[in-house]
Amino acid sequence: MYYDQNTTVFLDGKWIAAGEAKADLYNQTMHYGNGVFEGIRAYQNADGCNIFKAKEHFERLQYSATKMHIGLPYSVEELIHISYELLDKNDLTNAYIRPLVYLGANMSLMPTDEVHVFMAAWQWEKYLGDTPLRVIVSSYQRPNPKSCHVEAKVVGHYTNSILATTEAKKLGYDEALLLDMHGNVAEGSGANFFYEKEGILYTPPAGNILPGITRATIMELAKDLSIHVVEMHFTIEEVYGADNAFFVGTATEVAPIESVNGETFKGSWEESAGHSLYLMYRQKVQYNEYQGLTIV
Ligand code: PMP
Repeated sequence: MYYDQNTTVFLDGKWIAAGEAKADLYNQTMHYGNGVFEGIRAYQNADGCNIFKAKEHFERLQYSATKMHIGLPYSVEELIHISYELLDKNDLTNAYIRPLVYLGANMSLMPTDEVHVFMAAWQWEKYLGDTPLRVIVSSYQRPNPKSCHVEAKVVGHYTNSILATTEAKKLGYDEALLLDMHGNVAEGSGANFFYEKEGILYTPPAGNILPGITRATIMELAKDLSIHVVEMHFTIEEVYGADNAFFVGTATEVAPIESVNGETFKGSWEESAGHSLYLMYRQKVQYNEYQGLTIV
């Protein structure tokens, strides 16, 4: 699904066949989760393709690496260049790009100087699909921000996301919504959360979440549409009274939520602010800017 015999990947400065990319099983990322990564999307446009907010994603990769004491051996500009070359080599325009920074063999609890950079790309549908989601509030909370850098994209943090999504699916739901350590709504397992009430959007502030690049984009677009966005802490009870809700993220894009814990939102998604923002988002991703084009 992610690669076949024709797929080329980037590993430590070399272009190699995906099947030949190998890692040392003593690497610290596998044993202890100290590695950082990104999830980026490229979109086809009339000029070829655009890697949406490539700079922001690679800046976050650098930020995550710094927080985890990992020295990233490439600049943001070099990483952007590598990612366009990766698409070229694989004849991809609409694609998901996965840079992974992992460490060398090290069984101690100190980071190592041996840093590896892997980058792969593949075609990937919207991660949570387009069908309105039936969401459950997870029994797992987002990690205490004093226990790790929640705003960084660190490999080990995703065990929390895996537990939450797996629990939700086992209970017959599509996805999980996680609370923070204070019991306020935080985010999805791999996406940020917004709800809409009487034309105003509400989303949790930075602090207990990974404040995503899509979340920032949606907030920029809302400004263009004069939709008021309030960043504040709120409980799940406040969400139950909302008109609509949705998840946003690079892989997810904008995904409508039908219900939370069986409480169905009463508003029509097609007439919601979230839906208008999604249509604008689909234009913006092609050029990094909203072109004001009409959607067919
Ligand atoms: N929260 C979590 C936990 C995530 O994994 C992601 C995906 N990176 C997001 C939010 C959304 O971030 P972005 O819009 O930058 O992809």
